Amino acid sequence: MDNVAHIPSYLSAEHLGPWETYLVQIDRVEPHLAADLRPLAPILTRPKRALIVDVPIRLDNGEMAHFEGYRVQHNLARGPGKGGIRYHPDVTLAEVMALSAWMTVKNAVVNVPFGGAKGGVRVEPKTLSLAELERLTRRYASEINIFLGQDKDIPAPDINTNEQVMAWIMDTFSMNEGKTAMGVVTGKPVSLGGSLGRKDATGRGVFVTTVEAAQRIGMSIAGARVAVQGFGNVGEAAARLFADAGAKVVALQDSTGSIHNPRGLDVRAAKVWSLAHHTLIGAPDSEPIDNADFWGVDADILVAAAMENQITTANAGRIRARLITEGANGPTSPEADLILQERGITVIPDVLANAGGVTVSYFEWVQDISAFFWTEEEINARLDRIMREAFAAVWDAARAKGIALRTAAFVLGCERVLAAHQMRGLYP
Ligand code: NAD
Repeated sequence: MDNVAHIPSYLSAEHLGPWETYLVQIDRVEPHLAADLRPLAPILTRPKRALIVDVPIRLDNGEMAHFEGYRVQHNLARGPGKGGIRYHPDVTLAEVMALSAWMTVKNAVVNVPFGGAKGGVRVEPKTLSLAELERLTRRYASEINIFLGQDKDIPAPDINTNEQVMAWIMDTFSMNEGKTAMGVVTGKPVSLGGSLGRKDATGRGVFVTTVEAAQRIGMSIAGARVAVQGFGNVGEAAARLFADAGAKVVALQDSTGSIHNPRGLDVRAAKVWSLAHHTLIGAPDSEPIDNADFWGVDADILVAAAMENQITTANAGRIRARLITEGANGPTSPEADLILQERGITVIPDVLANAGGVTVSYFEWVQDISAFFWTEEEINARLDRIMREAFAAVWDAARAKGIALRTAAFVLGCERVLAAHQMRGLYP
């Protein structure tokens, strides 16, 4: 069945963006699903609910501005919705739909009891003052309030949102409820019910799954050359963990450009530089290189931790790494995915590789509900175990069926979601 043909009337067929990537992925997975679950697969190609909101705010100069906001709950069969909130000028309904669907699959791959959701506001937050950003966040949180709740839908940070934004959402929701509702968002500051270990959790999951894959393909992490695209929450933590494990981070890229040092960059110094200068360019002991050349850098491991659709037919043929880890959601186009497969490059897919964030978000939610907080050692140990077990399950399934890791991860996740539907039955 060609799922791409089943496009809802509220999306424009010409501008499907990442939603099309997701539908192609489901097309590739369907033949591998258990025969009794396969007829249920169309459930995965339609989001359960999508909320589109207008977010009007008063700017500091007294004028009013309007922003488009979204919250999509793709699937709630296995539990409340869970997924981040993105602030970015390119946010669209189709993008948020895809991100929410990937959350459905991801939460099932690591077997946390959540459905998939995602939110976004179409805004360039760099153009807003802190006060404007707070007003935007509070108004958006109020507009999507009817979707939210610790047992309904629990947002978290994504691109350009952070623990301060999560604290504002928690406070806004709490004001509307008339009580402090800690469990309504994760990725909060530790002082407000956040979890130790959450900040680095996604990067840590990227690192742990890469170590697992490297072991299986006979690659040593100590001395491995690593290139990382994206130097934010995910990319910076992953780069730092690789460097701490003795790998050489030879190239980094952020939205302002790329830097290179074949002898290895100082990741911590690069972070200090990028915080002070809002760019990686000029970081100590680094040479700037063209963004296009970043992809051809001589590296063993490539971590894509920026945005969707970065590894495409334009650069997939130039990548020299043997192992690619998807820290970002949807960084590889379906066409590029086939090129990488043909070239024998191992790709650890997003729904597995970046699931560390939602795993520790799950721990945060559990800690908030039980009002009992764990140590960082406990959190990291539980995270590492879940990531290793999920990796092994996906790797073994891929080997057993002779399929790519992405297909195997989707089969595992989608079968768990569809089995939940099968057991729950169709209402009414
Ligand atoms: P972030 O805003 O902290 O950092 C994003 C980084 O990517 C920045 O360094 C930015 O400069 C860079 N970037 C943006 N556009 C770029 C471009 N076109 N080319 C090169 N670099 C670019 O965001 P984040 O939280 O690190 O998220 C990165 C990716 O990881 C996203 O796809 C997000 O959905 C995914 N993800 C994040 C988490 C999390 O816990 N934060 C969890 C799972 C997945």
